[in-house]
Amino acid sequence: MVTQFIYNKEEDTYTCPQGEVLRTKGTWHTKKSGNGAPSYQFKKYRTSACKDCPVKNLCTGREKGGREIDRSEYADVVEENSKRYRENAALYRKRQEWNEHIFGTIKRKWGYNHTNLKGLKKVNGEFALIMTVYNMKRSINILGFEELMAKLKNWQPNYKGMLCAFAKTRRLKLISDIQFYNTNLAA
Ligand code: SF4
Repeated sequence: MVTQFIYNKEEDTYTCPQGEVLRTKGTWHTKKSGNGAPSYQFKKYRTSACKDCPVKNLCTGREKGGREIDRSEYADVVEENSKRYRENAALYRKRQEWNEHIFGTIKRKWGYNHTNLKGLKKVNGEFALIMTVYNMKRSINILGFEELMAKLKNWQPNYKGMLCAFAKTRRLKLISDIQFYNTNLAA
């Protein structure tokens, strides 16, 4: 299994279970994915030690040539994410409990597994409507229709506070946008 091969980031090599080092020539190949999925780049890693390896038949089905490991251009971030998940498994489980069932209901039960509109602005609008309906249905499930209506009737919205929170978020976004452009224009 590829998980038994250890990647060495500094050397850009893999070490196999027999202790042999698999190296790359550095050529990027293109993997064309089917079903409209985007293609991606990967490098190949090999070692000439495979031809004399006593466990070659356990490692690869290839009669000619040895074992090849493909490493995608995204492997670093995938590995970082797996590491974060392993180190924070309880936190990720909590997130699943809190958030995932919402998207499960919307996608699987209501059938919104795609959007009808295109473009970030329009999709945000469409999704805001879906989430509003979800929140209303959930509130009715928790409080019941009568209590929800009573609460809405007596609701005193704090528009000033909401406006301040909105302005603060916009200001933070503006600062992060400026930092982003500064970093990228300076690069
Ligand atoms: S076949 Fe090659 S890669 Fe696999 S264990 Fe043997 S030397 Fe290592």
